Amino acid sequence: MPDLACLSCGACCAAFRVDFHPDDLASSDKPGVPESMTIRLLPNLMRMRGTDEAPPRCVALEGEVGRSVRCTIYQDRPGPCRDFAPYAPLGIGDDACDRARRRYGLPPLEL
Ligand code: SF4
Repeated sequence: MPDLACLSCGACCAAFRVDFHPDDLASSDKPGVPESMTIRLLPNLMRMRGTDEAPPRCVALEGEVGRSVRCTIYQDRPGPCRDFAPYAPLGIGDDACDRARRRYGLPPLEL
């Protein structure tokens, strides 16, 4: 099921640092986040490349924020991305979603 409201947004992927446990990385026996798209911060902490730059933008994000975007590793995205604003795809945002959208001059999501 595509994330309908999110396919024309992407602000969260260009607003926050995305850090996660290396368990979410791809390995020889399971799919996951390609290690080449990450930076290792600590033995047990990875970060999506680009999310700590100014302005932030995840290396896996394709397209134009606020118009048309897609996550190029959507099926294998890390845990924080799966947990972020879980109802946003249905048009129901939350505080963090609102803050990310505000950065790009976008109004809060509305049903
Ligand atoms: S991995 Fe995908 S969903 Fe997560 S921040 Fe990057 S582009 Fe967005």
